[in-house]
Amino acid sequence: MKIDLSQFLEKEDQTVTCDAAIDIKSVSVNGMDFPRTDSRSVTLTFYNSEGHTLYVSGKTSLTFTAGCDRCLEQVDVDIPVEISQEIKITDEVFSMDNDEGLDYVAEGFLDIDGMIMAEVHLGWPSKILCKDDCLGLCPVCGKNRNLFTCDCDTEVRDPRMMQFLDVFSNSKEV
Ligand SMILES: [Zn+2]
Ligand SMILES: [Zn+2]
Repeated sequence: MKIDLSQFLEKEDQTVTCDAAIDIKSVSVNGMDFPRTDSRSVTLTFYNSEGHTLYVSGKTSLTFTAGCDRCLEQVDVDIPVEISQEIKITDEVFSMDNDEGLDYVAEGFLDIDGMIMAEVHLGWPSKILCKDDCLGLCPVCGKNRNLFTCDCDTEVRDPRMMQFLDVFSNSKEV
């Protein structure tokens, strides 16, 4: 959601907390969409320091569902989100000027979802595993090796050799 910042103009040197809904349905990472499964909100704390800086802070976490990189099982991915931003107030106009060059303020409104989405992208894991020692899928029969044991010869063969083997076994059948 977006929060109207004008309500904090008259709250000089005061702390105001408010609960903000998070309107995020999914996150897109490397062209893949991962649906969000939680419905948490975020409690934000605003502090207007001497009428020239508005500090925003808050903590929450978002949960998404994604496939394990090895066995493709669906797993919950929890992303902790921590917000800590400074908003400048100049002649009652709000602006953001941070090192990352990110600006979540437009026409006096703070874009909570944009701010949280940036944190989700930062916190997204490079590898998603159902468990650290996930055995993955058998490269031969495709069974989930966490659940089944198979007798497949999983020695890595040269794919060109595999073709040869196919031809050989086909000709044997004739
Ligand atoms: Zn797995
Ligand atoms: Zn197998």
